Amino acid sequence: MSFDAIVIGAGHNGLVCAAYLAKHGQRVLVVESQDRCGGLASQHEFHDGYRCANAQHVSHFPERISKDLNLVKHGFDGAYADIPLTWLNPDADGAHIALVDGHLSGVDAGEQAAYQQYRHLLRRIASMLAPFWLKTVPPIGNNHLSEMMSFAHLGLKMRALGKDDMREFLRIVALPIRDLLDEYFDHPGLKAMLSWDALIGSRQAPRSPNNSLLALLYRMADRSLTSARADSLICALEASARASGVEIRLSKRVERVTIEPRSECLCATGVELADGEHIEAVRVVSSADPKTTLLQLVGGDQLEIEFAGRINRIRDRGLVSKLHLALRTAPTFAGLEAPRGRFILAPMMDSIEWAFDDAKYGRIPQVPVLEVTLPSLADQSLAPAGGQVLSANVLYTPYAQADNWDDMTRQLLLARCLNVLEHYAPGLRDLVIGTELLTPVDLEVRYGVSGGHWHHGDIALDQLIMMRPTYGAAQYRTPISGLFLCGAGSHPGGDLTGIPGHNAAKEILR
Ligand SMILES: Cc1cc2nc3c(=O)[nH]c(=O)nc-3n(C[C@H](O)[C@H](O)[C@H](O)COP(=O)(O)OP(=O)(O)OC[C@H]3O[C@@H](n4cnc5c(N)ncnc54)[C@H](O)[C@@H]3O)c2cc1C
Repeated sequence: MSFDAIVIGAGHNGLVCAAYLAKHGQRVLVVESQDRCGGLASQHEFHDGYRCANAQHVSHFPERISKDLNLVKHGFDGAYADIPLTWLNPDADGAHIALVDGHLSGVDAGEQAAYQQYRHLLRRIASMLAPFWLKTVPPIGNNHLSEMMSFAHLGLKMRALGKDDMREFLRIVALPIRDLLDEYFDHPGLKAMLSWDALIGSRQAPRSPNNSLLALLYRMADRSLTSARADSLICALEASARASGVEIRLSKRVERVTIEPRSECLCATGVELADGEHIEAVRVVSSADPKTTLLQLVGGDQLEIEFAGRINRIRDRGLVSKLHLALRTAPTFAGLEAPRGRFILAPMMDSIEWAFDDAKYGRIPQVPVLEVTLPSLADQSLAPAGGQVLSANVLYTPYAQADNWDDMTRQLLLARCLNVLEHYAPGLRDLVIGTELLTPVDLEVRYGVSGGHWHHGDIALDQLIMMRPTYGAAQYRTPISGLFLCGAGSHPGGDLTGIPGHNAAKEILR
């Protein structure tokens, strides 16, 4: 049986892309190697009766995609509110800083006023950029009129920003996030907390120049929905796709994209599965990362050598590990009566920088910096009665670890993470009945993501916008006719936004 489109991967971007194509009358098949949908955001059981997803929080999902795909009707619990963010005090004296819906507490009035100024400036700039995440950015040179209009639109939006904000945007856009935060704030903990979303998932630390502010602005895009449960997004996307007629086959790994020479170009004609089945389609759309798609599923020998070299050079070695703890009961973080949202365990920006310094030389950090959540507080079904799940993003843990991630290195990292957690929540160690530590190498093996990278490739100036993942494949098309990319490795990047999937579908339908 032949399809209009085969989508490789039922991660959230694959599902978004498939749902849009099916809504426009295409016959769509999604083929997923895992036994469930969701990719990096899928839930799994990591200890008897304890479940968790790696990607947990939906922090900026566009309202437009939610409406187009009827996600609320299909159970998505997205809301227009930021996920609460808390900086925990390492001195365990109970004082902490909390950011809830744009309101800061735990710092003096001067810092609070500075925060409002800082937030409003970044919000205005983020709003200016927001429309450009949800569209294909044209390539440079030989543009059609419609593509020229896209650039003109950007120009007009920038003009609307006004002279003062525009000057400020150009001044700060390439600053290390540390310099910007030092301009506005004094409190070391506040600065560590506010730097976090500029850094997590990328090869960035507070002193790294050039890219971190763009990552932060991307995460601050306006009119977006948040949810403390990624699972609610994944279930809604799966239901929406199926309701639009998408067929989803799980536990089926694509071995290769089949290709035929046709009238002076190579064309994708379908996929071959690991079990030998061959399925034909008019086009193939891959949500697997660009390196996996083009070098493994297509094969470097099918590509022009210079293009294959650029794909091979994509920097996609992940730096984030995931730690899951099965706890007998809820831990007590000093001074925190009703823990909600994300907690940052990093005393100051220098602590983050020192952890990054270790990683630069292929070592696990002496003192890891962590972002912690307790997902079972929002969804008690994740743990047996009374139990709690603790989930932590552990920065910075290099993919290419000097000791090759042998057992001793894993145990050492686990011990260092538990030391940090115990410091903030005395007694926590005694509550632990099960652990799971997924290093970037584990994420690569389990989810088929090259380098185990959060964004399927670094967020960096040479891998962004019309250069993402590289020129020649940055408008969701590839040099193989009928083969498209729709995952986090494409513009504008990763996180649970569905934007690459949306943009790829629009490009295909165009
Ligand atoms: C530890 C960690 C924590 C994170 N936490 C958050 C968070 O809290 N919030 C947030 O917004 N983002 C988070 N992220 C980032 C986010 O998870 C990713 O950016 C996002 O999931 C990418 O979605 P995707 O659909 O593009 O790709 P993926 O989720 O990687 O999905 C790709 C799918 O393709 C499938 N696939 C690959 N190869 C094949 C093949 N050959 N055949 C068939 N199927 C195949 C895979 O199995 C997978 O299901 C986190 C990332 C990590 C690593």
